[in-house]
Amino acid sequence: MLVGLGGNNGSTSVGSMIANREQMSWRNREGTHKANYFGSFTQSSTIHIGWDGKEQVYVPFNEVIPMLRPHELIIDGWDINNANLYEAMCRAKVFEPELIDQLKPYMEHIVPKPSIYYPDFIASNQGDRANNVIPGTNKQEHLELIRKDIREFKKTNDLDCVIVLWTANTERYTDVRSGLNSTADEILRSIEKNVDEISPSNIFAVASILEGAHYINGSPQNTLVPGIVELAGQHKVFIGGDDFKSGQTKLKSALVDFLVSSGLKPESIVSYNHLGNNDGKNLSEARQFRSKEISKSNVVDDMVASNKILYPDGKKPDHCVVIKYVPFVGDSKRAMDEYVCSIFMGGRQTFVIHNTCEDSLLATPLIYDLTILTELATRISYSVNGSEWQQFHEVLSLLSLLLKAPVVPPGTPVSNAFMRQYGSITKLVTACAGIASDTELQLEFFTK
Ligand code: NAD
Repeated sequence: MLVGLGGNNGSTSVGSMIANREQMSWRNREGTHKANYFGSFTQSSTIHIGWDGKEQVYVPFNEVIPMLRPHELIIDGWDINNANLYEAMCRAKVFEPELIDQLKPYMEHIVPKPSIYYPDFIASNQGDRANNVIPGTNKQEHLELIRKDIREFKKTNDLDCVIVLWTANTERYTDVRSGLNSTADEILRSIEKNVDEISPSNIFAVASILEGAHYINGSPQNTLVPGIVELAGQHKVFIGGDDFKSGQTKLKSALVDFLVSSGLKPESIVSYNHLGNNDGKNLSEARQFRSKEISKSNVVDDMVASNKILYPDGKKPDHCVVIKYVPFVGDSKRAMDEYVCSIFMGGRQTFVIHNTCEDSLLATPLIYDLTILTELATRISYSVNGSEWQQFHEVLSLLSLLLKAPVVPPGTPVSNAFMRQYGSITKLVTACAGIASDTELQLEFFTK
């Protein structure tokens, strides 16, 4: 269930899933395109299993152990705007017209469920979008209504597993303090007392957890406050976040890993973005931009900490992030990065990267992956030295590969480096299949 179903990511997720399921193809001026799952780690990547003496053996990630396919998902959700998904898909300007025409009969009858709107949390420029709002201001009643939606969705579709994923507008940060949300009891009490500082995403997370549905935060705000983490533990529900790692930050988490692993020292990283979709409009206000700035800023920390030769005093590179709203470019986001490194003997090396692409076509595959991996995690249990079988920690840090600012269990390290994150998931999946992990030693090629 997507919160923000009528947004660019929401409508693209539903449309792409249907286009793949129905094996649609469409023309644009470059030729004919077929629906695919490029950019989805679970659907389009392979795992290196080993060398069989004649050739390298690579197996599709989703064939190593049983896993859901995106077109097996049933997607529904909420939006504060009442556009049906055909209208939402036209508004998003992500798909080509021929594809939109084919999707129309599948999309026009889907109308998002009314949602919770507390204007203080998203930008004031979103006010004119809010025409599909659950009435009233009573947060406890709102919680009950969202819980009812989740229950009914599960029952109507006869589902084993429900995952609620926030892909709605970026909210401002909420305060985190004792008495408000630092324990499960506090957050439940704060909702009951209708405290202003409880955000819509807090309500969705709590509603999901109380209904046994897993909750993932695809946006940067700090929804997963300590009280929500505790509540998830009590109800044995997974939570994951924050903020899809789709474009600029994904590249950064691979590039800085490569630079530092090469013994080059990134000194300054400056990242400009401009985009013209509704996400960009919302981020043009200071408090929502601040949430994004925070989630984008810590991505190099673990890589800097990994190398005391380059960073003996732990001083991080200068790192600056700018985001501007430029309506004309629509969903086609521009990300421009400059990396300056210190190299051999006092030299400098500068990389300048210009990245242009439809934002939602990068984020949507991650929505499928987050969902598929979360469902997969519900079917994995482990036992240490014959102890009782248990499930993973409720904070599902396994999802880190797909998230900009991974939330991890208290006291555990955050890993942002792309290939470490990739290794963690692929090795888990091969271990589950009983296949010895590839050590990448490649000893077979340099021994006689
Ligand atoms: P969007 O503005 O097109 O969609 C968001 C939708 O959420 C809108 O339809 C809006 O009406 C709805 N909404 C707002 N508040 C709501 C609420 N309380 N309940 C239900 N619906 C609500 O944005 P998008 O481009 O789809 O991006 C969605 C989110 O994903 C943003 O927060 C963005 O920062 C985050 N994100 C996107 C990308 C990416 O697209 N590449 C990457 C990282 C994070």
